[in-house]
Amino acid sequence: MSAFEPVIGLEVHVELQTRTKMFCGCAVVDSASAPPNAAVCDVCLGLPGTLPVINAQAVTFAAQIALALHCRVRPVSLFARKNYFYPDLPKGYQISQYEIPLAEEGWLAVPGEGEAKRVRIRRVHLEEDTGKLVHKGEASLIDFNRSGVALAEIVTEPDLHTLEEVKAFALELRAVLRYLGVTSGDMEKGAMRFEANVSLRPAGSQSLGTRTEIKNLNSFRAMLRALAFEIDRQERLLAAGGAVLQETLGWDEARGVTLSQRGKEEAHDYRYFPEPDLPPLELDSAWIDGLRAGLPQLPGARRQQFESLGLTPSLAATLAAERATADYFEAAHRAAPAVPPIRLAHWIVGELFGHLPADATGIAGVRIRPEALAELVAMVEGDYISPATGKALLQRLVQEGGSPSRLAAAGGLDQISEPAAIDAWIDSALNQHAPQVEQYLAGKTAVAQWLFGQVMRAAGGRAKPSIVQARLTERLKALEERRRPG
Ligand code: ADP
Ligand code: MG
Ligand code: ZN
Repeated sequence: MSAFEPVIGLEVHVELQTRTKMFCGCAVVDSASAPPNAAVCDVCLGLPGTLPVINAQAVTFAAQIALALHCRVRPVSLFARKNYFYPDLPKGYQISQYEIPLAEEGWLAVPGEGEAKRVRIRRVHLEEDTGKLVHKGEASLIDFNRSGVALAEIVTEPDLHTLEEVKAFALELRAVLRYLGVTSGDMEKGAMRFEANVSLRPAGSQSLGTRTEIKNLNSFRAMLRALAFEIDRQERLLAAGGAVLQETLGWDEARGVTLSQRGKEEAHDYRYFPEPDLPPLELDSAWIDGLRAGLPQLPGARRQQFESLGLTPSLAATLAAERATADYFEAAHRAAPAVPPIRLAHWIVGELFGHLPADATGIAGVRIRPEALAELVAMVEGDYISPATGKALLQRLVQEGGSPSRLAAAGGLDQISEPAAIDAWIDSALNQHAPQVEQYLAGKTAVAQWLFGQVMRAAGGRAKPSIVQARLTERLKALEERRRPG
């Protein structure tokens, strides 16, 4: 047990999936595929004399985030100018919300080992993104496509204390944002960017130590590695009687170290002042109430509901992780309320997930409707078809769509005719029904037909009947031969 407890707070930038940018009519384009500087105008290039206009959809998205995080949404918030020079910021300032943000004082319940833990949210505010610098050899190139794209910034209180908590928080937050449909949440594309603040304090203490802020975290893995490194670095420093310097660090993914970028800037370095070109953002309380009422059921509520249907916490979490999957499971359950939900869950997670297309469309990319899956599982549960037949049917339905009962009735199953497989089913049927075999050998030849049925049953209906018939007859003959005296 270490003498120090880590204290971690996160700042999260979320690219909002609006059609146009935060303050102009330029389209939001995928920076990876669009040609550079294709989606720019006077406003997002910061030309003199231009005026920003607030994007209503961005306000709606940010307010939805705030409400999902149980924040108090302010009836009036203000935009401010955050002044600094950088080549990717042509105006020389970023429009952000500072003193009076859109929303404050919320929380997110994060699932953990025991009870869910509430991580407090300090604030949620709106701002605009910067352009992107690309360094090629000697040259530095600039792409302003991202310049002015709407961002929501979410800031937590320093309530996180372990890497597990950080990971669980980040995953839960992303799940919530994706449920809301406000962002792709794609970290590789920079749609969700984390900065981690970390300090240490003597175990048991309630005071806060000096923190560092780590930037340049491009994946969950990078964030966790960087935090592990930084906690260790601070621990050694403090244990040796040194002091942590408050500064901004960059994570070097290749070397696996944090590097000092600059001394920690203070708010006054930015000369924040109210944005003179924008009016205060006034939100009607009835409009806010309407948004709150219209929020979708979020992952936490979904997990609880699934557990109440008898799913294990882990299955419930898997099915609730994406909204489309949760909806799919629920639709299947509605279609077959008599089938134990846990059976449906196992078929979705254990079988259907194995057939998801590689193109990341997820469950939306399979053709089998939830109602059809429910019907299929009901057929297996009712013993109309074997699990093996069910799996074979599933494979066809994933690609073709349609109804499992109709497909099965049309004999659409691939029939198995390999002698080895058929002999195995014959073995199993004959072993299982030894008394009937005895009856047959005693001269009751009509039992042969019944045994044939049992082999077909063992094969889940998938064996080719003519081959079963031929090999079963042979086998019974052989048994008779052996019994014949002399
Ligand atoms: P700034 O905007 O200058 O980075 P804030 O005070 O708004 O600073 O804090 C930003 C983040 O740092 C928040 O997530 C907060 O929880 C976290 N934080 C603040 N103090 C500490 C600390 N001593 N240790 C760890 N995290 C901290
Ligand atoms: Mg900060
Ligand atoms: Zn523009």
